[in-house]
Amino acid sequence: MDTGGNSLPSGADGVKRKVSYFYDPEVGNYYYGQGHPMKPHRMRMTHALLAHYGLLQHMHVLKPNPARDKDLCRFHADDYISFLRSITPETQQEQLRQLKRFNVGEDCPVFDGLYSFCQTYAGGSVGGAVKLNHGHCDIAVNWAGGLHHAKKCEASGFCYVNDIVLAILELLKVHERVLYVDIDIHHGDGVEEAFYTTDRVMTVSFHKFGDYFPGTGDVRDIGYGKGKYYSLNVPLDDGIDDESYQSLFKPIMGKVMEVFKPGAVVLQCGADSLSGDRLGCFNLSIKGHAECVKFMRSFNVPLLLLGGGGYTIRNVARCWCYETGVALGIELDDKMPQHEYYEYFGPDYTLHVAPSNMENKNSRHLLEEIRSKLLENLSSLQHAPSVPFQERPPDSEMPEMQEDRDGEDERYDPDSDMDLDDERKPLPGRVKSEFSEPEPKDMDGVKEDEPNREVDLKCSEPLA
Ligand SMILES: [Zn+2]
Repeated sequence: MDTGGNSLPSGADGVKRKVSYFYDPEVGNYYYGQGHPMKPHRMRMTHALLAHYGLLQHMHVLKPNPARDKDLCRFHADDYISFLRSITPETQQEQLRQLKRFNVGEDCPVFDGLYSFCQTYAGGSVGGAVKLNHGHCDIAVNWAGGLHHAKKCEASGFCYVNDIVLAILELLKVHERVLYVDIDIHHGDGVEEAFYTTDRVMTVSFHKFGDYFPGTGDVRDIGYGKGKYYSLNVPLDDGIDDESYQSLFKPIMGKVMEVFKPGAVVLQCGADSLSGDRLGCFNLSIKGHAECVKFMRSFNVPLLLLGGGGYTIRNVARCWCYETGVALGIELDDKMPQHEYYEYFGPDYTLHVAPSNMENKNSRHLLEEIRSKLLENLSSLQHAPSVPFQERPPDSEMPEMQEDRDGEDERYDPDSDMDLDDERKPLPGRVKSEFSEPEPKDMDGVKEDEPNREVDLKCSEPLA
């Protein structure tokens, strides 16, 4: 199968891949507040597992450079970013109108260091894209990223800035087409919306659909205008298991790779689709989840792996540790090494956990129907679009050049500029109109769903 791949620095059939891993030791200290299910501490637990499994020595470990205002404003509105920069837990009572306007306060609370948190997780994803663009690695990993619900001028579903959109914009400087794949249990609405009218980014989201946050992601939502057939939605029901999931994932993604031929792939690995998630209601094992990583890796195309949801944090750490092993081509022992968070993993202290015996509400018939519908849409794209590609836009810049060996990323060239709408106008009219001003999604007759509250929606209790 010709997939348009074979562009990796380590060679087309390399079993091992060069991996860059972005991690900021501060990230685990950010705290959304008491009782909030989103816990940045899970990244610190993941990192500890990686360290004690001996995986860090096989990767290039980088501390992300914080994304600056101008970096964030490549997608987000200036006033929204100024608001995120200035709001504090102490001053928020004086800003009630603004809080409401930007949907900050409930699911997306104001907490200490909120803006630095955004800069850190966005910096990792954009930095990963830059590393891939330079050909410095085959796979870049940022488990702190993947916050797919954030909108241009609005926070949503625990997400404030959309690091994924920013990373894809960076990849588009070098690649004609970028594929986005989302295996979080929630619809990847923020990313879909940002690229709904372009044929340069295909978005594919596998998610629980029906009375579930954020309410979008109907199989009939396929993109609009030039972007028609470039958004794919795979609506699923409670209790889906590894076999059912892969009976859709592999044929669909295989076909997507064949017809779209992306130059780079971004995979959002939200771990709330795992069995026993505090907010989720799927029944995937860690191996079933990681099979998606393995499959997308097999196409030999530059790959950006991002985090996302995941609310039973011991399983999130297990999953992202195992998937880092998959990225490296290293199979990990099920018996967990001793480490500082070892007590979280009792009573078995194993990397893998058995899925539950919950009912799989996805009938074979329904899965078959979804699969043939999506393959039919994909057959409308038999030939990859040819995008006239102009002068390569400059890479993102950073105030000071960082030495690679210092553990910093080399995202920014001192003589370059990140803004797409500067004098050079690398992609005239296109990026600005399509990416900065995404069309409203309801043009294709899609209803505006009342968003459910992610925190309230719990269709299964965590496993013991
Ligand atoms: Zn989610």
